[in-house]
Amino acid sequence: MKKSHRLGIEILQTLNNAGYEAYFVGGFVRDYLLRRETGDIDITTNARPDEVEALFDKVVATGKAFGTMTIVQEGLHFEVTTYRRETTYDNHRHPDSIRFAKTLEEDLSRRDFTVNQLVMDKDGNIHDHHGGRDDLDNKRLRTIGDPAERFYEDALRMLRAFRFMAKLDFSMEEETRKALTEQKHLIRKISIERIQDELFKLFDAPNKQKALKAMVETDFASALYGHEAGFRKLSISPVIYGPLEAFSVLHIVDGIDLTLWRLPKKFVEAIKEIESIHMQTDREPFTPEALFHFGEKRCLQADTVNRIFGRKSQKKRIEHLEKTLPIRKVHDLPYRGAEISKIVPKDKPHYIRLILDTLLKRVLNREVENERGALKEEAWRILQSLKESENNGQL
Ligand code: ATP
Ligand code: MG
Repeated sequence: MKKSHRLGIEILQTLNNAGYEAYFVGGFVRDYLLRRETGDIDITTNARPDEVEALFDKVVATGKAFGTMTIVQEGLHFEVTTYRRETTYDNHRHPDSIRFAKTLEEDLSRRDFTVNQLVMDKDGNIHDHHGGRDDLDNKRLRTIGDPAERFYEDALRMLRAFRFMAKLDFSMEEETRKALTEQKHLIRKISIERIQDELFKLFDAPNKQKALKAMVETDFASALYGHEAGFRKLSISPVIYGPLEAFSVLHIVDGIDLTLWRLPKKFVEAIKEIESIHMQTDREPFTPEALFHFGEKRCLQADTVNRIFGRKSQKKRIEHLEKTLPIRKVHDLPYRGAEISKIVPKDKPHYIRLILDTLLKRVLNREVENERGALKEEAWRILQSLKESENNGQL
């Protein structure tokens, strides 16, 4: 038994000893029954947040207003949430206010999918109130209750359905799929942050192509800010890729509206770099300059994107170029800026950059040796040709 599972049982035991009901719930039980690697452990109980707090040494009030307290044991986190039922749903979003519920049944019927409402007690007994075991055995995602109502209440559940398909390799039950197809447009009511969270998880999951195909077939992909073509491309690619490559493809194919999406700044910079490498290398070999400017990691990510566009892998070439790069930074040139400025006419300061860039390019392509004398001579030659071009009216 894993340490987290053992510690979780101790928490259930402590709650039970104090007279409360307590069960493992959600992803942990689902993944345990599927014999999969499990993530964080969620516990559901009729103890109120204050009562939970009183029973354990280290408790963080992570979502006290929503009934969630995090118990920390041996460095591991356990989310303990008091039974609750949702109150009103405002504008198809998960409610901001909650009410505590008296019974486990009430708590379970507010959950999204049958396979996400299975609970397990401290002795390993499973309680199944909505036919989740059967759906688990048949690898089927089905909402609890009327799917149209459940998606209408909280439209994010539609995207969660695709996310679980991608994670679990499940298919979608017919009624659930039908309701989703009819209500897909409601996804626009959901905040972009919550959409992104789910998409990142989806793009990280092993069976994403299957979920993406369903997103295209149900037209959900177009409802999601018009990224139909991008999602289609991602859905038919056999390439192994992650969130960064996936978002890069969406950007290259459809353009991502950066005023709408709230992607982290570093992530956006990476997307732009990948796009620019892709433009240069989609139909041409990778160059030493690409490796010099963007580094091996980024080039390999761009290579993955190129492969999603149907190109052959250039991984070997990238690795070879990386190993054999003559220089790794401008400072590795023994003759550069300050010295170039000495030979450049005072009224032509912009020549400095032009000469430096040309030297860099030639060294990287092994057209000139990275040695002071050779570089100086080359700089003079470049200067001459700059002057000639200017005289001929080309500059
Ligand atoms: P994972 O292992 O990927 O975290 P999970 O099932 O634990 O999967 P969470 O997003 O962590 O998913 O949610 C925990 C549980 O809370 C779910 O299993 C489900 O029972 C319930 N839940 C979460 N979001 C919703 C929602 N929007 N509507 C209804 N129930 C939800
Ligand atoms: Mg979870």
